[in-house]
Amino acid sequence: MTKAFENLELWWITGAQLLYGGETVKIVDAHSKTMVDGLNDGGIIPVNVVYKGTANSSDEVEALMKAADSDGKCIGVITWMHTFSPAKMWIKGLQALHKPLLHFHTQYNAEIPWKDIDMDFMNLNQSAHGDIEFGHICARMRIRRKVVVGHWKSPEAQRSIAVWSRVAAAVADAKKTRCLMFGMNMNNVSVTDGDRVEFEQRLGYHVDYYPVSSLMEYYRKVSEADAEALVEEYRKSYGVRIGESGEKLYWEKVKNSAKAELAIRRVLKDEGATAFTTNFDDLGRADIDAPGFLGFDQIPGLASQRLMEEGIGFGAEGDWKTACLYRSLWVMSQGMPEGCSFLEDYTINFAGERSSILQSHMLEVCPLIASGRPELEVHFLGIGIRKQQTARLVFTSKPGPGIKATVVDLGNRFRLITQEVECIEPEPMPKLPVASALWIPQPSFEIGAGAWILAGGTHHSAFSYDISPEYWDDFAEMTGIEHVHIDRNTTLEGFRKELRTNEVYYLLNKSLQ
Ligand code: MN
Repeated sequence: MTKAFENLELWWITGAQLLYGGETVKIVDAHSKTMVDGLNDGGIIPVNVVYKGTANSSDEVEALMKAADSDGKCIGVITWMHTFSPAKMWIKGLQALHKPLLHFHTQYNAEIPWKDIDMDFMNLNQSAHGDIEFGHICARMRIRRKVVVGHWKSPEAQRSIAVWSRVAAAVADAKKTRCLMFGMNMNNVSVTDGDRVEFEQRLGYHVDYYPVSSLMEYYRKVSEADAEALVEEYRKSYGVRIGESGEKLYWEKVKNSAKAELAIRRVLKDEGATAFTTNFDDLGRADIDAPGFLGFDQIPGLASQRLMEEGIGFGAEGDWKTACLYRSLWVMSQGMPEGCSFLEDYTINFAGERSSILQSHMLEVCPLIASGRPELEVHFLGIGIRKQQTARLVFTSKPGPGIKATVVDLGNRFRLITQEVECIEPEPMPKLPVASALWIPQPSFEIGAGAWILAGGTHHSAFSYDISPEYWDDFAEMTGIEHVHIDRNTTLEGFRKELRTNEVYYLLNKSLQ
């Protein structure tokens, strides 16, 4: 089991009734235990599944669902109807549950024993019957849920539950996530703005402003010894490449970056925050040469890179939505091999079928996606209030397929937009010493970029090599937000129709507003 998920639980509830007698329920109980053990022993689902018994009446269902809803470890409920569990007995329980629900349409027995099957066998193996009844009440009540169909020993079914469990962990984490904005979002930018009250109500993330002046107090108090110790860690972790800044300025800038990292770390810890944003126009006092100057001497890009690597959500230019989304992406993909990052659409490369978009930020790209060991470099950065020699990790990212994601505020709802991209090797860019990726949006640059723009997507995104679209679809279902996905089958005509249809759906569906 992935250590990151070890304190979490999924509750398994088996639906039954007493019509078939107590003995039958006892057998079902034993079957359920075996099935739950099978899921836990399969090594695919990263969260422990806990068997909570059979529910045989409305009162029992309601009690279990209320317990699941208030339990601190429980991040979601898996239901399976062994028998015909008359589904009106699930109404009150489903009303009481506000956590993710997975309906597992499975059966203890795999193949029918043709020679021996009799009515007793049928009564013990009738989820084809019971799960359909349960499915109806969920549909009737508009319960958001995932339906997984397959035998419980099937790796495919277990993988689908694993996806859902990772997303449920991220959704539970989102409710505990506090994002600090060091400064506001950048003036005049529309896409990084939005309704933070609705954001918390719908997705759980709490977003607060944090005064840069208070951050600077932390910065001022970082000791030389602590900063030097962190610089030593940098030396061990990265290639040291001293360029045009010269050695003295290089180490000065790296040390100040270490101080900034320690200051941000300490604020996040003291404030209980797991995500943050920065704004390159707000780094403390404006005049770096003024007496008693208290401010970052450079954009804290190196700190952002390193904190992202540890799963701290990050958004540049005050982009709190992407910062929070990155945090969730990191949580759901913990332990996966290829990595994730905050990225930004920067420059187009028009080159026929290889037309692509260069992804970078000024500095803030997460080393988890690096194709090799990052180099620690210091170069002049002429953007933002500081315009100084600035430390950063430089690398290119791995080639291969991935998914970019963003969430935007459309006024009456949040829209999650995801897109398959193909990362390719860039040509060497000796005059652009920043971390970057280069990708072709799918199904092609023209359609992919066009669809993204039609959907109102951001130039910022949370990117991953590891997760499939199923993760984001589960995320949208759990949180009740819109999800549009752009992939190899997308056409602009079809996509435009989907956006129009969704507009009507979300206007009419008050429960999702
Ligand atoms: Mn940006």
